[in-house]
Amino acid sequence: MATALTNWAGNVEFSTHTLHRPVSVEQLQEVVAAGDRLRVLGTGHSFNTVADTTGALISVADLPRRIEIDAAQRAVTVSAGTRFGELTQALEPAGWALHNLGSLPHISVGGAVATGTHGSGLTNGTLATAVRAVEFVTPSGELRTVTRGDDDFDGSVVTLGSIGVTTALTLDIQPSFQVEQRVYDRMFLSALRVNLHEVLTAAYSVSVFLTWTRPFADQVWVKHRVDAGEWPHGRDWLGATLASGQRNPVPGQDPGFTTEQGGVPGPWNQRLPHFRLEFTPSAGDEIQSEYLLPIEQAVPALDVLASLADTIAPILHVSELRTIRADELWLSEFYRRDSVALHFTWHPDPVALAPVLRELEAGLRPLGARPHWGKVFAMEPAEVASLYPRFADARRVVRGHDPDGKFRNAFTEQYF
Ligand SMILES: Cc1cc2nc3c(=O)[nH]c(=O)nc-3n(C[C@H](O)[C@H](O)[C@H](O)COP(=O)(O)OP(=O)(O)OC[C@H]3O[C@@H](n4cnc5c(N)ncnc54)[C@H](O)[C@@H]3O)c2cc1C
Repeated sequence: MATALTNWAGNVEFSTHTLHRPVSVEQLQEVVAAGDRLRVLGTGHSFNTVADTTGALISVADLPRRIEIDAAQRAVTVSAGTRFGELTQALEPAGWALHNLGSLPHISVGGAVATGTHGSGLTNGTLATAVRAVEFVTPSGELRTVTRGDDDFDGSVVTLGSIGVTTALTLDIQPSFQVEQRVYDRMFLSALRVNLHEVLTAAYSVSVFLTWTRPFADQVWVKHRVDAGEWPHGRDWLGATLASGQRNPVPGQDPGFTTEQGGVPGPWNQRLPHFRLEFTPSAGDEIQSEYLLPIEQAVPALDVLASLADTIAPILHVSELRTIRADELWLSEFYRRDSVALHFTWHPDPVALAPVLRELEAGLRPLGARPHWGKVFAMEPAEVASLYPRFADARRVVRGHDPDGKFRNAFTEQYF
């Protein structure tokens, strides 16, 4: 029997044993044109069945690698299967940067863009907001490009892999910059609550980590751009203390797996992700969920989490608060909403998780929570769709490209 294909976390066993790995765009076009039911698999870092199919999976990881920097246009064109860690290792020595990165550099550019993957910082949009152009193979096997400004561009970037196979993306770049990363230990919830906006926007990128086992946020990670001037806080900040050594946000995990802290200036790509490319990120043994809410709801959302601490904590590795700038992408979790992100890294126990998610969503629903497309949630599809004002337009784009549903799966069938 063929070995089962699973996602990175191992909590999803795909419903097919077939994985095509074309080595040229022409070969990919042939596979797509001949296929019946297809889905693209990136690096498999999503935690739900968004990438699943009963037909065949396609990986773009073996397509010819492209990283083409256009300095005059301040843009890079990158093959979609490239991992962020590889892209940034080419950009940084050439003096260029992306505006932001997710917590890990292991994910593919195509997969991250398709689900609205984000980093942190209220001036930073999701990684998909850097996209200027998307080159993709349509369900009929045609190679097409949509460019910022084209009709329907805003419905063709965050797509959950539903309009075809992205082969390359052109992204905005900016001159490289230096970042200092500091970690503060133990910020009491009372201080955090009163100063929440100030804390979350104190630097270019901020992450607050909480285990909900004690009356404080366990760690506050601050990624401060050196060109923004001196970091204004010293050893003590709102009662929290500068960490005495390197930290890993996940209790029990090796601090050596995380990017350098201690305020040592370093290039953006070695500070913006929490985890280093050469090590396993996060806990490894985990399931993740995340909810995105209007930034105005940050304090009420913190109160909801605090009220559910005894429910959440027993199955939690760690939770994380971040912020993200609003965007115009129709299926982006941040569509027209400056947002606070409530992230949860759970122990991999789906049975114990199910009732916790229901309770959590009951608390966050009135605050307008949208679930992250690549993580585990319990909300009904109709409810999720109702949270996106341009959902009907997004559906029209998907149906226009894929009238026969070649790229639909059980997950997206419910939406498109
Ligand atoms: C340890 C860990 C940390 C994480 N941290 C963050 C974080 O900081 N912020 C955040 O927002 N998310 C985070 N995530 C979630 C992750 O970024 C998303 O799930 C992302 O989609 C993973 O990219 P991937 O390449 O693995 O995509 P996959 O999971 O393989 O696929 C995701 C979707 O993209 C589609 N897709 C993939 N490649 C293509 C392509 N070439 N063309 C068309 N469609 C494609 C797939 O069909 C699928 O629908 C984290 C996940 C893990 C495991």
